[in-house]
Amino acid sequence: MIFDCHTHLFGPGQFGGATLAAAKRAWGGDQELLVTPEIHWELVKDFAGAIVLAFDAPATGINVPNEYVAEYVAKHPGKLFGFASVDPNRENAPQLLETAVKELGLVGLKLGPIYQNFYPDAKEHFPLYAKAEELGVPILIHQGTSFVPEGYLDASRPAALDPVARAFPNLKILIAHMGHPWVDECIAVVRKNPNMYMDVSALGSRPWQFYNALVSAMEYGVTHKILFGSDYPFFTTERMIEALRNINALAERTALPRISEEIIEGILHRNTPELLGLV
Ligand SMILES: [Zn+2]
Repeated sequence: MIFDCHTHLFGPGQFGGATLAAAKRAWGGDQELLVTPEIHWELVKDFAGAIVLAFDAPATGINVPNEYVAEYVAKHPGKLFGFASVDPNRENAPQLLETAVKELGLVGLKLGPIYQNFYPDAKEHFPLYAKAEELGVPILIHQGTSFVPEGYLDASRPAALDPVARAFPNLKILIAHMGHPWVDECIAVVRKNPNMYMDVSALGSRPWQFYNALVSAMEYGVTHKILFGSDYPFFTTERMIEALRNINALAERTALPRISEEIIEGILHRNTPELLGLV
């Protein structure tokens, strides 16, 4: 059974501002982005389960409240796991996380420096990481690029998480999208820190980068730290499975290295809830 470690809800008006404007420019069209719990459930109900992300990013116009996610995942215990989101720039960020975990039943923290405009290695944010470690909840962090002009690109390099991982060895940190486009930097930081992982979500849209990312992870011996995720609604779980199983297509009839079926199926069937301590 396949578990999707990276899916979003976007209720009416929750994906707006600068990010929506940039998304329309990047992908064309004039559609609002809408993922209600009903739409989301249709996608995930036939899979083993999923992590569902809140998103508190006022700097770029995204606001998916913790309560919205908590109410939905509570209807599907053991299958859906809700991650809170707290903008680290908020003065009471650690307290907000504690409330989301203890009162709303959320089991992780979603961060995104390029959407929330904060420098993850800045000491002022360490109390938030300390709180996550104390609560025993993992962090899923979008540590990679984005198309939002307002976002801080210089805050989004994977290596910025190395001091965080070293300061909080019991805090599990999952880097989204294998840190694209800084895939090798992501692999370097994940390899050296036992508490770090990375997910393949959304990489299916760039088959050449995706193939090279897995070859590099294979050469560094870290494919066991890769988790499966889609980044729904930007990519569906099904399309991501297909992209992963089709990873060697570009290497066909060449001498380029192949990703073994064992590695591919290992990623697809990773026991993410257990690995991240969600169960
Ligand atoms: Zn995402």
